Amino acid sequence: MSLSDAELDRYARHIVLPQVGGVGQRKLKATSVAVIGAGGIGSAVIPALAGAGIGRLTIIDADTVDESNLHRQPLFRERDAGYSKSDLALQFVHRLNRFVEATPIQKRIDAGNAASLLYAHDLVIDGSDNFATRLAVSDACVRLRIPLLSAAAVQFQGQVGLFRSSPCYRCFVGNAFDADDCDNCAELGVLGALTATVGSFAALLAINSIVGIGEDQSGRLHLFDGEKLNWRAITIPPDASCRACGSA
Ligand SMILES: [Zn+2]
Repeated sequence: MSLSDAELDRYARHIVLPQVGGVGQRKLKATSVAVIGAGGIGSAVIPALAGAGIGRLTIIDADTVDESNLHRQPLFRERDAGYSKSDLALQFVHRLNRFVEATPIQKRIDAGNAASLLYAHDLVIDGSDNFATRLAVSDACVRLRIPLLSAAAVQFQGQVGLFRSSPCYRCFVGNAFDADDCDNCAELGVLGALTATVGSFAALLAINSIVGIGEDQSGRLHLFDGEKLNWRAITIPPDASCRACGSA
């Protein structure tokens, strides 16, 4: 996959990096990413990936913009209240980078439709706001053998993990939360700047993973404490009895 002169100019600050170069930029262009949730995490992930020149972005979100979203979702403005988040995110991507092919899907992803929505992507980034969705997405990614980058932020705590088959997100969370579809942000609150921090970290991890920069981060969970202002990482062991990846 080649880069046009206009793309070489546009991505010049990437291409000059020895870790990226023309080879890395072409990898980004050749990659198809599904982003689940155009909320707080998505508001950081989507601009970063579109700006970086990811070739195809699918944006999955069933919701419309509510004024209570605006403190943490800079993709949207006051006049967007009531409009589809996935459609607005598509418009944002088109205004930012004409070289990105974006597809909006205004659906709630669940165990019944996850595989058909995520099929044919190279990477899934899940920034949804509840365990039921995240577990359904994780199970589908294990079945489809698509790497999953899961990112979450609530109150002052953030977490980002990359999962490739096994260990999977379910190895970490277990089976207790499949019916838990509450909106964590609505119930518990979240600091707006925290979601931006966690979402930007997820985007960086995604780009590093696609280009092949640094060590492979799969199976590690990165935890951010927004009060102490520090990151730490833990290793997640595979769960031999995990119902998603245990027999893998
Ligand atoms: Zn598992």
